Amino acid sequence: MICSFCKKHQNEVAVLVVGPDVSICDECLFICFDVVKEHFYSTEKVVKAHENTIKLMEIGG
Ligand SMILES: [Zn+2]
Repeated sequence: MICSFCKKHQNEVAVLVVGPDVSICDECLFICFDVVKEHFYSTEKVVKAHENTIKLMEIGG
Protein backbone atom coordinates (compact mmCIF):
# COMPACT_ATOMS: atom_id res chain seq x y z
CA MET A 1 0.00 0.00 0.00
CA ILE A 2 1.08 3.59 -0.64
CA CYS A 3 -0.11 6.91 0.77
CA SER A 4 -2.68 8.45 -1.57
CA PHE A 5 -1.37 11.92 -0.77
CA CYS A 6 2.43 11.74 -0.95
CA LYS A 7 2.75 8.33 -2.65
CA LYS A 8 5.21 7.05 -0.07
CA HIS A 9 5.26 3.32 0.44
CA GLN A 10 4.06 1.98 3.78
CA ASN A 11 7.62 0.88 4.51
CA GLU A 12 8.77 4.52 4.26
CA VAL A 13 6.33 5.88 6.83
CA ALA A 14 5.60 5.15 10.48
CA VAL A 15 1.87 4.63 10.07
CA LEU A 16 -0.36 4.16 7.07
CA VAL A 17 -4.10 4.48 7.67
CA VAL A 18 -5.92 2.51 5.00
CA GLY A 19 -9.50 3.30 3.95
CA PRO A 20 -11.75 1.64 1.38
CA ASP A 21 -10.29 3.52 -1.62
CA VAL A 22 -7.58 5.73 -0.12
CA SER A 23 -4.78 5.56 2.39
CA ILE A 24 -2.93 8.26 4.29
CA CYS A 25 0.39 8.19 6.12
CA ASP A 26 1.10 9.78 9.48
CA GLU A 27 3.01 12.68 7.87
CA CYS A 28 0.10 13.67 5.64
CA LEU A 29 -2.31 13.07 8.49
CA PHE A 30 -0.57 15.73 10.57
CA ILE A 31 -0.51 18.18 7.67
CA CYS A 32 -4.23 17.64 7.17
CA PHE A 33 -4.86 17.83 10.88
CA ASP A 34 -3.23 21.25 11.11
CA VAL A 35 -5.66 22.51 8.48
CA VAL A 36 -8.64 20.86 10.16
CA LYS A 37 -7.55 22.05 13.60
CA GLU A 38 -7.53 25.69 12.48
CA HIS A 39 -11.09 25.19 11.33
CA PHE A 40 -11.99 23.49 14.63
CA TYR A 41 -10.61 26.36 16.68
CA SER A 42 -12.79 28.82 14.82
CA THR A 43 -15.88 26.83 15.83
CA GLU A 44 -16.14 26.33 19.57
CA LYS A 45 -18.84 23.63 19.37
CA VAL A 46 -16.71 21.51 17.09
CA VAL A 47 -13.68 21.95 19.36
CA LYS A 48 -15.68 20.48 22.25
CA ALA A 49 -16.85 17.53 20.17
CA HIS A 50 -13.30 16.74 19.10
CA GLU A 51 -11.39 17.79 22.22
CA ASN A 52 -10.00 14.32 22.88
CA THR A 53 -8.98 13.79 19.29
CA ILE A 54 -7.15 17.12 19.23
CA LYS A 55 -5.34 16.25 22.47
CA LEU A 56 -4.29 12.87 21.11
CA MET A 57 -2.99 14.42 17.92
CA GLU A 58 -1.05 17.09 19.81
CA ILE A 59 0.64 14.46 21.95
CA GLY A 60 1.68 12.70 18.76
CA GLY A 61 2.85 15.87 17.05
ZN1 LIG B 1 1.63 10.62 2.91
